[in-house]
Amino acid sequence: MALIRHHIAGAESGSSERTGVVFDPATGRAQHEVALASTAETDAAIAAAAAALPSWRATSLIKRADVFFRLRQLLVDRADELAAIITSEHGKVLSDAKGEISRGIENVEFAAGLVHLLKGEHSEQVSRGVDVHSVKQPVGVVACVTPFNFPVMVPLWMTASAIACGNTVVLKPSEKDPSASLFLAKLYEEAGLPAGVLNVVQGDKVAVDALLDSPDVRAVSFVGSTPIARSIYERAAANGKRVQALGGAKNHMVVMPDADLDAAADAAVSAAYGSAGERCMAVSVLVAVGDDVADALVAKVADRVAGLTIGAGTDAASEMGPLITGEHRDKVASYVTGAAAEGATVVVDGTAQHFEGDGFFLGVSLVDHVRPGMKVYDDEIFGPVLSVVRVASYDEAVELVNTSPFANGTAVFTRDGGTARQFEFDIEVGMVGVNVPIPVPVGAFSFGGWRSSLFGDSHIYGPESIHFYTRSKVVTSRWPDPSESQISLGFPSNH
Ligand code: NAD
Repeated sequence: MALIRHHIAGAESGSSERTGVVFDPATGRAQHEVALASTAETDAAIAAAAAALPSWRATSLIKRADVFFRLRQLLVDRADELAAIITSEHGKVLSDAKGEISRGIENVEFAAGLVHLLKGEHSEQVSRGVDVHSVKQPVGVVACVTPFNFPVMVPLWMTASAIACGNTVVLKPSEKDPSASLFLAKLYEEAGLPAGVLNVVQGDKVAVDALLDSPDVRAVSFVGSTPIARSIYERAAANGKRVQALGGAKNHMVVMPDADLDAAADAAVSAAYGSAGERCMAVSVLVAVGDDVADALVAKVADRVAGLTIGAGTDAASEMGPLITGEHRDKVASYVTGAAAEGATVVVDGTAQHFEGDGFFLGVSLVDHVRPGMKVYDDEIFGPVLSVVRVASYDEAVELVNTSPFANGTAVFTRDGGTARQFEFDIEVGMVGVNVPIPVPVGAFSFGGWRSSLFGDSHIYGPESIHFYTRSKVVTSRWPDPSESQISLGFPSNH
């Protein structure tokens, strides 16, 4: 079995004593080993990033932008190869893998506009002969820690803006699908990024802790589950670092009585079961306003899922692939088997579907009559399980969404513009869709949830990322006539 190693200062390295297993989720077989970095190996990556910083931050903006233009083209040209890597380690179907690459490319396109993005401000003559201008300077070495479910898109969310701003990076991808990050680091370098600007460290908590505790790491971008996001936020902040830690989700799709129920059912099936529900923006709760809507939607969703094709991600006929590991598959299944005992109605039981072989497959499930307080509602399941919560009114729907601890994404399905506008106004969630079930903002906007879906002040990628990855400096200057020089002990005033 090949050992997947680190990428430090432009070279592969690492013969770590500790290793993990990378599975092919479609067969259930171990396909690679991955090095799990020690503290010393992680420190070596941080040192490489620190060494590359002075020259990268001094590189002209035009030259930096050039790297992103080339990287964009390389990502387009090599998308098939990259998608194959994603599918082989994550399991998602190839079309979905290509979709994540194209969404990641948006972040590269955004970063290519860095000459514009890094402009400061200038005020002339704030006092007689005195001007003020502000500049945006890099924060330094940035640590990026990413989850398994988007092995290309999430690393691009972070690295593109961080590097564009003149920082250097240590990326710690998920140990479950580590190869895509190595591929990305090589593409960056093929695009002209100097060695050491982007380093990849494979590993687990040991590597992450080393990043969080190193005084040379100035900012931390994290995406993953809520408990880990909270702990990363607390530890990084206690160490005086700038930190954004995006957590888990439980996304509600509210369906009003006036909605086009066929379109809503199509959207719910796509958003709940796409990528086997392993998306932080997946719809996991369908909120039906009124029993008539609920009855109709449950029937329509059940009807549609009967026709879904589940199989290996490499099979063009597959619409949904396996889950990431056998352990995760079993945990997801336990929510479905436990739901009936909690008083819910299992309308479609994916755990009963049989699959040949040892792949980590699970059928899709639809659970009706779900309420807060049930585990199937309260926990982020992160699998192909859609819960239906029945409410009597719009107000009850809003109350349900606004009291969920998670607040990543939500959507309303309605034909009424007034209802949609009111929903947008009332709902306390970071990303909102109107007849759009997965409202992931395009690269020119920023992505982020509220409450337990994000710890920190900054959303990720887009304009907020430029703020996160830079420090502003304000310069007040005067070029006086030497003949006017004089001593004054008064406080500087601008009148
Ligand atoms: P995870 O929290 O288990 O792991 C995320 C990263 O943290 C990985 O790199 C992992 O190695 C590291 N890690 C795990 N345990 C750690 C520990 N104790 N200390 C330090 N580091 C640790 O998440 P996952 O299972 O890889 O990804 C799925 C989760 O990510 C879901 O909860 C999903 O909602 C969330 N997610 C959120 C967003 C978002 O934008 N809000 C996007 C994608 C995924």
